[in-house]
Amino acid sequence: MKITAIRACQPKCDSPPDWRTALGQILVAVETDAGIIGHGVGGGGEAAIHVIRTVLSDLLIGRDPEPLESHWQAMYDATLPFGRKGIAIMALSGIDLALWDLRGKVAKQAIAQLLGGPIHKRMPTYTTVWDAIPEALIGQHRAFKIHLGKSAATVDACVDIVARARARVGPAVALMVDAWMTWDVAFTLRFAERVAPLRIDWIEEPLPPDDLAGYAELVRQSPVPIAGGEHEFTAAAFVPIIERRLHHVVQPDVCWCGGMTELVKIYRLARQHGVGVCPHRGGEIWALHALAALDPQPLAESGRPWMTWVGGQPAIHDGMIEAPTGPGFGAVINS
Ligand SMILES: [Mg+2]
Repeated sequence: MKITAIRACQPKCDSPPDWRTALGQILVAVETDAGIIGHGVGGGGEAAIHVIRTVLSDLLIGRDPEPLESHWQAMYDATLPFGRKGIAIMALSGIDLALWDLRGKVAKQAIAQLLGGPIHKRMPTYTTVWDAIPEALIGQHRAFKIHLGKSAATVDACVDIVARARARVGPAVALMVDAWMTWDVAFTLRFAERVAPLRIDWIEEPLPPDDLAGYAELVRQSPVPIAGGEHEFTAAAFVPIIERRLHHVVQPDVCWCGGMTELVKIYRLARQHGVGVCPHRGGEIWALHALAALDPQPLAESGRPWMTWVGGQPAIHDGMIEAPTGPGFGAVINS
């Protein structure tokens, strides 16, 4: 089998009017002379599409889709002068996922099966909310994450939001908070000490991803677990974070961090070191198979509502979700 074309586009959708639109999610299709097409999703919008068209496509066209791990390395090497993190790896991620989709379709197996996992594994979900948890969502998920990054400027205001959320959901529902890279060590520790009695499962990305010294201080002192890694790229970059336990929970995004090839490595390394993994957007089909196969305690973050152009997304029932069982990721693309 030979790869005949790689196509990429950024489908229009109602994404928020920030970088997620300007440099938003892209659809990647890897076509073959056998008529089988693999689909994947990457990030980086038109900039990533430019990287695919001008650099990555030529590496793969005319080649066998396997072994896909060697294609990952070729793409990484070719983008080294301008890549390593960010848009180039987001572009690579979309192709890697499309190659995994091809692998599953050729084997006639779901990706969860290829990874050695069961099918029909029911996994709990959580969803992310801003400020208050809407009444309509209570009972629909097993946990909620409150995004505090833009909403509250003081520790008091942040604690107040969490206290109201705890009162609303009761003691049995898990709560997390996300600071989206906007706090510092002192603010985070003051917040953590105040919210610890409210039982918070993690504080997510309190610091910028490169402040590893700050994260070392936080995991040493915070009474609340620290999560991060949504904006980190490649398994190699997760090695020091996991080996030095700079986060209690790592949150790679499979559509950004280098695709399934990297997510598998991150899962295995994290397990060796007793670090939790909770992939960003883990309830979308691109990561869901890895949760089913590799995660001893899966918790799937609900998919983004504007990702309507990827069909085949399984519904959430009673706060539980299963990975699709068809070949590959199970994406249904209307192109
Ligand atoms: Mg986040």
